[in-house]
Amino acid sequence: MLHDSDRIFTNLYGWHGTDLKSARARGDWDGIAGLLERSHEDVIEAIKASGLRGRGGAGFPTGLKWSFMPKEITTRPHYLIVNADESEPGTCKDRDILRYEPHKLVEGSLLAGKAMRAHVGYIYIRGEFVNEAKALQTAIDEAYQAKLLGKNAANSGWDFDLYLHRGAGAYICGEETALIESLEGKKGQPRLKPPFPAGVGLYGCPSTVNNVETIAVVPTILRRGAEWFAGLGRAGNTGSKLFCISGHVNQPCNVEEEMGIPLKTLIEKHAGGVRGGWNNLLAVIPGGSSTPLIPKDICNDVLMDFDSLQEAQTGLGTAGVIVMDKSTDIVQAITRIAYFYKHESCGQCTPCREGTGWMYRMLERMVRGEATLEEIDILYDVTKQVEGHTICALGDAAAWPIQGLIRHFRPALEARLKSKTPAKTPIESVA
Ligand code: SF4
Repeated sequence: MLHDSDRIFTNLYGWHGTDLKSARARGDWDGIAGLLERSHEDVIEAIKASGLRGRGGAGFPTGLKWSFMPKEITTRPHYLIVNADESEPGTCKDRDILRYEPHKLVEGSLLAGKAMRAHVGYIYIRGEFVNEAKALQTAIDEAYQAKLLGKNAANSGWDFDLYLHRGAGAYICGEETALIESLEGKKGQPRLKPPFPAGVGLYGCPSTVNNVETIAVVPTILRRGAEWFAGLGRAGNTGSKLFCISGHVNQPCNVEEEMGIPLKTLIEKHAGGVRGGWNNLLAVIPGGSSTPLIPKDICNDVLMDFDSLQEAQTGLGTAGVIVMDKSTDIVQAITRIAYFYKHESCGQCTPCREGTGWMYRMLERMVRGEATLEEIDILYDVTKQVEGHTICALGDAAAWPIQGLIRHFRPALEARLKSKTPAKTPIESVA
């Protein structure tokens, strides 16, 4: 478990000031000139050595991603893009960084921008985050006034401008290429990859898109050293991580913990335990709504990191932990998630556009007690036809929760269909 001395986000709950002076008192911007003296390669190697993996969901190694950027600036400028479009149901970690620790993100943007030879960074923030955008803009303005941003940022000889761009609320704009399209002023629809953004990104130029939390931990890693970060968690799953715990727990919260903490410890130590006690647990969605649920017998010992959860046929995703106790109508809960993805599909590829609707409507029949037993296998087949057959990961995100339901709750599903029992609350009330 994480010691207080290893905590990166010391103002996660907003108990202290968020202004530059307060941030500096907590250690932000400390020795920034020295950090900026380090070479591009040196910083990228340090981030690689720390083992930091992207905190936005996919868990791709951050240093490696940065190393894909060209080693020289040619006719095309380089861009850093920070993804602050946090929209995954169950996830609210970036929001607390944006409103209470904005200087960590601003400082991290400068350092990451320098490492990848970008003189310009954009932070794309979810439109609904009105107060968060104000807090972040205030921090950016303060940094400019203190000459930490702009020409010769922090007296380093490196020019770096940082712009805040507000999105309009579509979930799909959190997908990196849809975000780039939206930033360019177009409809937020994902691009086919390759080419990847490091080759052809914003305005056709080399770009790297990183999550808020990923960028916000960079200054502390560079200050305290890659070995320190790599010493937290376990091999391949290093560092600390923000977990968002919601649902049927006694004290829903965001908390920074060590990677690899047991799920049970996380819930009991920080969220006051499952409502009605651990034995009242039905299932947990461990990484935001797109990750498959895991039933209690797996929750008993699973560790909260990328590899452990993958072995359990689910994922760490955004670390949005949604806890469901035995009062949950699990079919209805997954149906609600299916409705979300159907609603958020951008519609440009057929398996996702049509498949998300099919999956939702079939689940709706199951919730109403109208479906037949055979429809379980048909539904599973539809998820397999969507998964891996789409331009972006939204198709997978829509398919996986349903696969998790069928994998772990098939007997309950069959009993429901045999008895033709509708949900206690009508489906219209949730959708
Ligand atoms: Fe759009 Fe869905 Fe295709 Fe992604 S998978 S590009 S959201 S239609």
